[in-house]
Amino acid sequence: MLKIQNYINGEYLSPVADRWIDNYNPSNGVVYSQIPNSGREDVSKAYEAAKIAFPKWSNTTLEERSRILSKIAQLITDKLPELAAAESKDNGKPLKLATAVDIPRGSANFQFFANAITQFASEAHESVGLSAMNFTLRQPIGVVGCISPWNLPLYLFTWKIAPAIAAGNCVVAKPSEVTPMTAYLLGEICTEAGLPPGVLNIVHGLGTTTGQAIVEHPDIKAISFTGGTKTGAHIARVAAPMFKKLSLELGGKNPNLIFADSNYEDMLRTTVRSSFANQGQICLCGSRIFVEASIYEQFKKDFIEKVSELKVGNPFDNETNIGALVSKSHLEKVKSYIDNAEDYGGEVIFGGNKVSLDGFEDGYYLQPTVIEVTDNQCVLNQEEIFGPVVTIMSFETEEEVLAMANDVSYGLSATLWTNDLQRTMRLSKQLQSGIVWVNTWLLRDLRTPFGGAKASGVGREGGFEALRFFTEPKNICIKY
Ligand code: NAD
Repeated sequence: MLKIQNYINGEYLSPVADRWIDNYNPSNGVVYSQIPNSGREDVSKAYEAAKIAFPKWSNTTLEERSRILSKIAQLITDKLPELAAAESKDNGKPLKLATAVDIPRGSANFQFFANAITQFASEAHESVGLSAMNFTLRQPIGVVGCISPWNLPLYLFTWKIAPAIAAGNCVVAKPSEVTPMTAYLLGEICTEAGLPPGVLNIVHGLGTTTGQAIVEHPDIKAISFTGGTKTGAHIARVAAPMFKKLSLELGGKNPNLIFADSNYEDMLRTTVRSSFANQGQICLCGSRIFVEASIYEQFKKDFIEKVSELKVGNPFDNETNIGALVSKSHLEKVKSYIDNAEDYGGEVIFGGNKVSLDGFEDGYYLQPTVIEVTDNQCVLNQEEIFGPVVTIMSFETEEEVLAMANDVSYGLSATLWTNDLQRTMRLSKQLQSGIVWVNTWLLRDLRTPFGGAKASGVGREGGFEALRFFTEPKNICIKY
């Protein structure tokens, strides 16, 4: 059986303590590879390699860094079929989704920051009348840690690594132990692209061992983390006394606000996608759907009809819209919300059952599920479920829906469907979230600030925000 290895100092290595974790294929529940459960000693090795590489890498010209990042982007594109198949097998997502979204975005992340670093500039401030000039240096931090989740494995892993190395840092990175495969394959791509050994080091393992060792390492000066809110809070507690720079991208419970004056067909099609893309396992999925009362019954009927057309199937089948959930434990967690729907304040009006597929009986399949609720305070509207489950509910007024949209601990994204410009401006301004989409969903411009408010996180990724995070500003004041 394949043993995935750590990528340290440009080489593939087994973990020092020879501890391994099983890696499952969610489409059939079979263990198909093993990954290291790296300990402190592996993280130390990765750190040492990064530390040695840092002086040279941080003094490598921007053009050369940009050229290497572009080459990595190109190689990801060249290997798209192989990487998409690996992602789909590891995560359970439809192959066509991995082919159209995950892997192209992994490449785009490198290409974007290959370009961005050549345009990144710092500021100068003339202290007029004091004969002094200030200029700001933005220097790479040193060795930084990047920790990512399982839902968009290569996509989110590279979203952190690309700006970190573009800015001149060296990295110790850990992908999710649930989906390690494409991160493993990225090592050889980096070597082939000519990334010097030690600039990127990839250690595999559990959050509580490998992840914890990265966060606790006294000389890893910044942590960029994407994952659950509880984990983010824990990481903040560990890192704060060491004054590490922290970027936390956490959970969500995103509202869709649907008004009767929206473009109905477009709204309906997009709302099906924003509910169930990637089995609903995207932090930006709209899991609370609020519909204006005048179109509520029509929406409910049309939405369920469209959802019933989604095919749950083997991720490798081209007809499949909904693949497998990522793991057995995650399937059980999502299913428990459905099984307790009544106690949690809702009524299942579509789906709700596990699906058994011929030849894939042990895979982690679940029907797309629609639950009707009547009170936004219910558990189903307050807790992140992170699966193919949405709630729907009607509202009467703009004030009412705004209050419900904001009445939740999270604040990642919100989607607004209306053609009323005044309302668009009023609501966009008042919605408590890092991102508001109006008449669209998941349209991403990589230059824009990306991140959450409230319990959805601290800090912003994307564009120059990410390059600012991965650099330390230093003001130099010269009197003349
Ligand atoms: P998770 O928090 O369980 O794990 C995320 C990563 O953190 C994994 O690599 C894990 O091994 C590691 N980890 C766990 N414990 C750790 C510890 N003590 N120290 C250091 N690292 C540790 O999250 P998950 O289940 O992998 O992902 C799902 C969650 O991620 C959802 O809540 C989802 O909303 C969120 N998410 C957020 C965004 C965003 O951009 N805001 C994007 C995708 C996913």
